[in-house]
Parts: sequence; C-alpha cells; structure tokens
Amino acid sequence: NFAERSEEQMSGAQVIAQALKTQDVEYIFGIVGIPVTEIAIAAQQLGIKYIGMRNEQAARSLPCCFWPRSHPCLGWYGKCKRELLVEACRLYTKFSARPSSIEAIPFVIEKVRYLRAVRTSIYGRPGACYVDIPADFVNLQVNVNSIKYMECCMSPPVSMAETSAVRMAASVIRNAKQPLLIIGKGAAYAHAEENIKKLVEQYKLPFLPTPMGKGVVPDNHPNCVGAARSRALQFADVIVLFGARLNWILHFGLPPRYQPDVKFIQVDICAEELGNNVKPAVTLLGDISAVSKQLLEELDKTAWEYPPESKWWKTLREKMKSNEAASKELASKKSLPMNYYTVFYHVQEQLPRDCFVVSEGANTMDIGRTVLQNYLPRHRLDAGTFRTMGVGLGFAIAAAMVAKDRSPGQRVICVEGDSAFGFSGMEVETICRYNLPIILLVVNNNGIYQGFDMNTWKETSKFRDPTAVVPPMCLLPNSHYEQIMTAFGGKGYFVETPEELQKSLRQSLADTTKPSLINIMIEPQATRKAQDFHWLTRSNM
Ligand code: ADP
Ligand code: MG
Repeated sequence: NFAERSEEQMSGAQVIAQALKTQDVEYIFGIVGIPVTEIAIAAQQLGIKYIGMRNEQAARSLPCCFWPRSHPCLGWYGKCKRELLVEACRLYTKFSARPSSIEAIPFVIEKVRYLRAVRTSIYGRPGACYVDIPADFVNLQVNVNSIKYMECCMSPPVSMAETSAVRMAASVIRNAKQPLLIIGKGAAYAHAEENIKKLVEQYKLPFLPTPMGKGVVPDNHPNCVGAARSRALQFADVIVLFGARLNWILHFGLPPRYQPDVKFIQVDICAEELGNNVKPAVTLLGDISAVSKQLLEELDKTAWEYPPESKWWKTLREKMKSNEAASKELASKKSLPMNYYTVFYHVQEQLPRDCFVVSEGANTMDIGRTVLQNYLPRHRLDAGTFRTMGVGLGFAIAAAMVAKDRSPGQRVICVEGDSAFGFSGMEVETICRYNLPIILLVVNNNGIYQGFDMNTWKETSKFRDPTAVVPPMCLLPNSHYEQIMTAFGGKGYFVETPEELQKSLRQSLADTTKPSLINIMIEPQATRKAQDFHWLTRSNM
C-alpha cells in the first residue's frame, strides 16, 4: 500500500550503505566504533564484505589496483573536529567534503558527494577521496521514498595523445642510440600490458620496470634490464616514461644518475605531472593503454627496429651478467646466519608464478625486489612512493580477500623486514580471523637496517647504562615473531638454515587452509652487494 510505504523510514547508515552498493563497492576495510558500527552492519546486510582491521594505517591500504573497477580509498570518520579533518584531507586526497546539513543527507550522499567521490577516485589519475559523515547523520531516520539513488558511474573515459606529439615521439625513438623504456605503475593501472609488450618485442627495446611496474612485462623477459638498472639509467639517451614519476625513486631524472642531455618522452594521464623535474623532449598526455597503441601504429609505418646487436645492448647484457653473477655468488654462500640473497634465492625457487608478492622494509624490500620475480601485472605491492612502512599486511589482507573470491588458490606472499612487520603486526589476528592463507616471511636481522647478534647485544648491555643507551637501530635479538602467528592459530616457523627455510616454505605453500609466518634469522649486519652509487644506496629502487 503506497501510503504505508511512503512512511517507511531508514537510517543514515542504511542510506550510506545503499549508496556504496549502488556504486558497485564490494569491500569495506575499516575499524568500527560508535557510530560507524551501524554503517558496517548496514553494509553487510546488503552483501558488501566488511573486513575489520586492527589499525587504521593498515585499513587504509586498500586494493586500489587489482581489478578494473576497484576503487581507491573512500574514508569516513565518526567523531572528531570535522572542519579540521575535511581541510586536512584536502592535502592528501583528490576530493574531500562534508554534507552541509542534516537535511542534505540524501542529496549529498546520493546525488553529489558520494557519486562524485567514487567517480573522482577512478577518473583521471586514480586517487583517494574523503567524505566526512557527521556522526549524528548515521542514526538519523529519513523517509525511504525521499531518496533517489544514482546509477553507478560510467567507466573512466579513455584519452589519447595529440597525433603530432605521437609522431614526434616515434621519430625520437627511431633516432635513439641508447633507448630505454621505463614501465611504471601507471602502465599497470592502465592495463597496458599487451601493447607495451608488443612495443618491447616488435622494436627490440630494453625496458626497466619500477617497483610496482614489475610484471607488466614479465621480469624474466630477455629485454628486461632490471639487473643493469643503474647502468641503463645512467647511459640511456632516450627514455620513454610510461606512467612513472621522476621522483626520488627515479633519482629525479638528474645527473649523475642520468646523462645531462637525456631525452625524456613522458606518457602520463595527469597533465600537471608533465615536465616535473626535467623538461621532456615530448609529452604524451593520455591513457597509457591508448597512447602505447598510438605509438605502435606510428612506429609500424616504417620498417624500423632497434638493432639487437647494438653496442648498447651489449653493454647492458654484460652488466646484467656480472650483476647476476655477483648476486648468485652471495646467494650460494654457505655461512650462517644467512644473508639476504641466500634467503631470497631459496624463496624465489618455490614461489608460484601467479602469486601476489607484497613487500616492505629497507634492504628486505630493495634486495627482495631484485631477486623475487613477477610474471603478472598488478601482482606486486610495496611501500611505494612514500615508502610508508606498515602498509604491507593491509595490502596482503586485501589481496588475499579478493583472491579468495575471484581466484581461489592464488597465494599471497608477504615479505617483511622485522622492523616493518612491527608497524602492523597485530593484523596477524585479522589474517587468522578471516582465515586467509597468507604466507608471511619476516626477514629478521634484529634491527632497523642492521642489528646486533645475541652475543654482541649481551656484551654491550653489560657496559651499558640500562636507562639510556639501547642503540636506536637495535631490536631485541632473536625475537620469536612466529609465535604471534601461533598465538592466533596459524602456523609459525623459526628458521636459521637454508634447509629449514625450504622445508617450512614448502609446507606453508602446501597448506592452503591456514596462514603461516616464517621467521627467518639472517646475519644482523648483512647488507646489499656493492653499489655503483654509494651515496644513494638507500634509495636505489
Ligand atoms: P612508479 O612508482 O611506478 O614510478 P608513480 O606513482 O611515480 O609510479 O607514477 C605513476 C604515474 O602514472 C602517475 O603520474 C599517474 O598520473 C600515471 N597514471 C596512472 N594511471 C594512468 C593511466 N591509466 N594512463 C596514464 N598514466 C597513468
Ligand atoms: Mg631489520
């Protein structure tokens, strides 16, 4: 009966949940408390999966890049100084807003704000949005019929580069003596793998992935010059940047890491990014998938390919060979405790090719990235641009949650330094609560960058003023992090030798029903192999 129906009430929380559902939101990662608990419950009633995390930092590390329609973070908070938060969030988000009045709830959430937040988060350069819902809105009752839900926003429109710029870029590439393609995470977000692989193979070009650009073209591709990274950057005369910023990870595009007159061809979806730090020879504004297709078509017009027997290829191959030999030699060292290379070589031997690799730490992340291979795009997640520690377990949980729904059996390996693990260690409880068969590797050197072995620790503590001078980089030696996993019902392993590592990893991979944590003791003073640029070893990513 219409008269009755029109009286039907629903809460602000239900309105919010329905608005999210209408925008195809499938997962919410959060931490509940008064009053946001109601929103989580309302979302669950609509079939949205709610994953309760233990720490806000981990909750915010969402699965932004796994699947085409997954949204970057949309945040909300219950109670705090709202005006301040909305303003503060402007700095870090693409869009930050708060409904202006209680009467505006349906309007703000349905028509403008939420829709806009979702759309803004996925259109153009993807990024986080913040919507502030005043606490008292959550339990407010509104008339069901007063609310109109907006349709789910359309997929992001695809933009292409200017034809004349594409022509110019093709000409610069054809005239390059020492070309290099850099494949960044923008190429992964754009799902440009097929076109970029064609560019690499058809024109015989060397390429270098950035940390999260790994896997767009497989790491074991013969044209991947990751093992000669410094050399490739230093001597390239033309560099095509596919969705990678010239920030500190790429040494700002400046000498001495690059030639002073290197020509950059910058491909990016964000106009404001073009020309940052260096003046590019050509800028291609557009979606990488579309622009790389334009480049293919343009280069196809002549019979050109980059000569595979060039001096440049020879230099790169030689450097790759010697670098790979140096890592292998370190890896084959039989001395105990193990070094990073030994650990990662044994891990690499057993990793399934389709697994997600999540990683954070200092040397653990940097060295791990050079040894652990990615064969698929969007399968590596690490501390990224801001090098924020504490995001790894959140990433792993998100990846495992989505894998469970969409490709059961696909594994998530989370490689953590002992210090990095500490930032969000309590998320192990979350992993066990949702029974996600994540394999956590804690590469344990008893410290931050470097630590002390037990004997040195005991020896120095004898002379130490116990109240004052615990060395800042030291963590407690031989900590049994694996017991954090067993405390919640998962499997824990403490390993000190390559054999123990191999065995525990084999068992962990075989058990698809349970999470496990392998605490791997390594040489507390272990470092990376000698680098060409000592003054930048910490940022040689
Ligand atoms: P990396 O860490 O791999 O170097 P960055 O985060 O520094 O990656 O840069 C990624 C760049 O990719 C950003 O400048 C972003 O604007 C761009 N980008 C994101 N998605 C796309 C897309 N679909 N097409 C083109 N560029 C994109
Ligand atoms: Mg450490």
